[in-house]
Amino acid sequence: MSLTNAPRPLRSVLIANRGEIACRVMRSARRLGLRTIAVYSDADANALHVREADEAVRLGPAPARESYLDIDKVIQAARRSGADAIHPGYGFLSENAEFVAACEAAGIVFVGPPASAIAAMGDKASAKARMFNAGVPLVPGYHGEAQNDALLREEAGKIGYPVLLKASAGGGGKGMRVVESDREFQAALDGCRRESRAAFGDERMLIEKYLTQPRHVEVQVFCDSQGKGVYLFERDCSVQRRHQKVLEEAPAPDLPPVLRQQMGEAAVRAAQEIGYVGAGTVEFLLDAASETSSSEAAHFYFMEMNTRLQVEHPVTEMITGEDLVEWQLRVAAGLPLPKAQDELTLTGHAIEARLYAEDPDNDFLPATGTLERFGLDPNAGGLAPDRVRLDSGVEAGDDVSMHYDPMLAKLIVHGEDRGQALAEMDRALAALDVSGVTTNRRFLQRLVTHPDFIAARLDTRFIEHYHDDLFASEPVADGEFACAALVALDQLDRASDERSLWNRRDGWRLNAPQHVRLAFAEAEGAPPISVTATRSSSQSTWQLSVNRIGEESNHYEGKLQRLDGDAVAITLDGHRRRLLARIDPALEGETIILTAAGFESRLIWRRSDRADHLPHEVEAKLTAPMHGTVVALLVESGQPVEKGTPLVVVEAMKMEHTLSAPAAGAVEAFHFKVGDAVAQGDELLAFASTETNEAM
Ligand code: ADP
Repeated sequence: MSLTNAPRPLRSVLIANRGEIACRVMRSARRLGLRTIAVYSDADANALHVREADEAVRLGPAPARESYLDIDKVIQAARRSGADAIHPGYGFLSENAEFVAACEAAGIVFVGPPASAIAAMGDKASAKARMFNAGVPLVPGYHGEAQNDALLREEAGKIGYPVLLKASAGGGGKGMRVVESDREFQAALDGCRRESRAAFGDERMLIEKYLTQPRHVEVQVFCDSQGKGVYLFERDCSVQRRHQKVLEEAPAPDLPPVLRQQMGEAAVRAAQEIGYVGAGTVEFLLDAASETSSSEAAHFYFMEMNTRLQVEHPVTEMITGEDLVEWQLRVAAGLPLPKAQDELTLTGHAIEARLYAEDPDNDFLPATGTLERFGLDPNAGGLAPDRVRLDSGVEAGDDVSMHYDPMLAKLIVHGEDRGQALAEMDRALAALDVSGVTTNRRFLQRLVTHPDFIAARLDTRFIEHYHDDLFASEPVADGEFACAALVALDQLDRASDERSLWNRRDGWRLNAPQHVRLAFAEAEGAPPISVTATRSSSQSTWQLSVNRIGEESNHYEGKLQRLDGDAVAITLDGHRRRLLARIDPALEGETIILTAAGFESRLIWRRSDRADHLPHEVEAKLTAPMHGTVVALLVESGQPVEKGTPLVVVEAMKMEHTLSAPAAGAVEAFHFKVGDAVAQGDELLAFASTETNEAM
């Protein structure tokens, strides 16, 4: 059924959001034949969501308060563009009851629940009271009106320590504190009240039993305006950092089917209790104990309901084969739910990883910059489009500013089972080609390859618990330095070719360096590690030795072959591997980045010269590119010469060719005398540069 002749006809939709979710909503809207209207702040004038929309309306300056959060401006934009509906995405105005009321007043369809349902879930204490009435299990606790110190303390004692104090008006993890014992209670209460007053202008508290190893399992629900409701199964979002989700998956691993059904039905009851319409998520804490006792129902507890589409909705789409944005638009148009509960199926397993512009090894500091590269490497093998989805709000060339949430994109994979999905995610993360802005990609790789994540030993403190594994920067193996050296050497070879020595009018080529010492480091500021490289007579192979101060050197024989794009084949001691190689600028030189499935190596190449200079050879050899005769030696061996001093003249095909000094230094030895015939490739002389020997 088309949305144009639905009970509430929709021809166009304005997306009051930015980034990946704006792009994602537009994809479905366009497929349903709707005109798409973007809004933007000055920081986003050229953003992807603006480029992809049919129309775009400016809201105001970069700060969200003056643009994406400004209700009047958004309503005005909808009026100006004649939008029939507004989709709020997530964040910004998506859970703002006042905004919903403003849409209603302006006669614009809000793609989401009625204002009353948002308000009902806005306060944690009153939401819990409603849920209690609807028979939804709650964490044992106190959510009453009375708030005097003695009473709260007594309630905490009844619940049993540890308890969690939560601000009723709270959100985003603010105003929350774990209290371990009665002795600490008063101080924690005072602290929580202060925080809550500052953040929410309200100091009411509720108390919950603190579950020590819970899982975060949430249920996707959907209700239509005819009063029907269904659940589209659950997602496990236990892997969080500071209450922010990092990895999400569907279904929840090892969830007994009975519990799935009980949680699903409780979630639908929760939604119907508040007259819900549209997409919503009911979040539960699942007590670890319930995994073994599937028959007992009381081990999941209502936490809160998010009255909007969630960031992690794609994993649900992957396992159900449904398009949740399409469902939202249909329900908003007054149509019934596309499917009944018994028509919904759960197939395979899906995992989502959130890609943030941030530095996990630096306390998750948000990162900014210009994305030089962004996307899945098309040359990476094994990525099936129906199993890998990249929901992105950016493209190569885009700027990442500090004005908004640092999430760049979401990588979502689907497999027949969890094992296959994990393998898929590992491959997809390795194929994700991002440069220019620091991201948490490597952190995500460490997470999805962690044995306890693979074994689904999940709880909300997973990251905290495995901190040392996830953040430890493992020492880099010497073989990685040898690989990085091959990439650096290849770069130097290519740079010397580009200096058109092949094209010199005199027809002679100064060979690229034969013996080079390169300086590397594991990270900025780390001690230097040197690699000495000597080219073998076959020209393509290098003898490499990796030298760390105070340790014995390791020796390798290696070669590098360029394939398509950034792809290279590196052979190290007879082991050939296909990798992607990139060189990015870094503070202390350049970063050599090597990636392959499940592998990433980033090493700093402390290069002292720049591409516009000749490489500083320790030794250079000058060879003849064709047959000829030596007609003059212009300097003595050992005699100091300036760069460019003519050294030797060779006659070939009736023309004289002069070879000059590649740098300041001296000829160590001439290998031929005047009158000798030389063959193509013969080394004419050995040259020692005095410019530097701590090269490149
Ligand atoms: P907010 O609205 O501030 O995000 P929530 O009530 O949703 O706060 O809780 C956020 C997170 O805190 C949950 O995802 C969970 O990890 C943890 N949490 C909340 N309540 C409890 C509890 N009773 N026991 C243990 N952990 C909890």
